[in-house]
Amino acid sequence: MDSPDSPSPPPIPPELHSDYEERPFHHCTRCGETLADFTGGFQISKAYKKGECVLEYALCDHCRMSMMQEFSNESKQRLAHFQNEAVHMDHGLTHCAVCGNGRLEGCMDDFVITGLCEGTALHHGLLMCGDCGDAVQELISVSTRDTWRRFVDDNFPGPPPSDALPLPEHHPLHLNH
Ligand SMILES: [Zn+2]
Ligand SMILES: [Zn+2]
Repeated sequence: MDSPDSPSPPPIPPELHSDYEERPFHHCTRCGETLADFTGGFQISKAYKKGECVLEYALCDHCRMSMMQEFSNESKQRLAHFQNEAVHMDHGLTHCAVCGNGRLEGCMDDFVITGLCEGTALHHGLLMCGDCGDAVQELISVSTRDTWRRFVDDNFPGPPPSDALPLPEHHPLHLNH
């Protein structure tokens, strides 16, 4: 039963739909599972360069967890620390979760938007600007970066924009704070 302090979450906004298919994401990019039925939810991420979407994916929770398991322990710890210390979960899809710069204020061409979703609902949306995304890339080990590169190579045709690899969110879908 829903408590009064947890109003039902908004629907997934069009900016988190697939640009490529021009509709909401229906399937996990990695395993093909139907997202709407997937208990545990899923993550959508879209990377923009010069204002254009260059990479987009949806990951079911199972795939997100199994990719995270391939990350080195050191990378996981650094990411968890960074997300606890520096990432604000309440800046939404318009302002960088780390530095607070606004996407709609004009000079942000490179950024990644991420939605933590379940069914057709958006539980959390966040944005990370290119500069803050670069800082995150510095935190992770080469082997962890390779895990990502394999995911991109296996799932996307053509040369991947290697400097635009979005990271899976470490945060669980349902936050307690
Ligand atoms: Zn999957
Ligand atoms: Zn930023």
